[in-house]
Amino acid sequence: MKKSKKKQASNKAFMEYVAKHNCCLMSHSSDIVSSSCGGGVQAHHLLKPWDGFRGMGMRASDNNCVPLCYKHHALLHDKYGNEDKFWTLFNLPENYGRGVSQMLWHNFNYGEPDGDC
Ligand SMILES: [Zn+2]
Repeated sequence: MKKSKKKQASNKAFMEYVAKHNCCLMSHSSDIVSSSCGGGVQAHHLLKPWDGFRGMGMRASDNNCVPLCYKHHALLHDKYGNEDKFWTLFNLPENYGRGVSQMLWHNFNYGEPDGDC
C-alpha cells in the first residue's frame, strides 16, 4: 500500500487556527481536576475523531483538533489518557471534544465568526 506523506497546508492552517482559541476547558470547572489553565494553547488531536467518513484526501486526524492549554493537554495525555473520561471530569459530555472540533472545523471552512468553545 502506498502512503502519501504529503501534508496539506490547510491542515496546518487549521491547527494554527485552533491554537488561537482559548483552552476549551477554560470556562469549565471540575471538582477533581484544577480547572485553571496554564501555558500556551495547543491543538490537541482527538484520540477519537468525529470525522471518520470524510474521504477527500483530508487526514481525519488533522481536522480533529481542539484547543487545550499546555496544562490541560499534559493532564489529558499524562494522567488520564482516556479522552472521553477526561471531559466528564469537567461535567461535560463524553463527546465534548468531538463537538468542539466539529464546530471549529466548520467555522474554519466557512469563515463564520466563532466564540470560544
Ligand atoms: Zn486549560
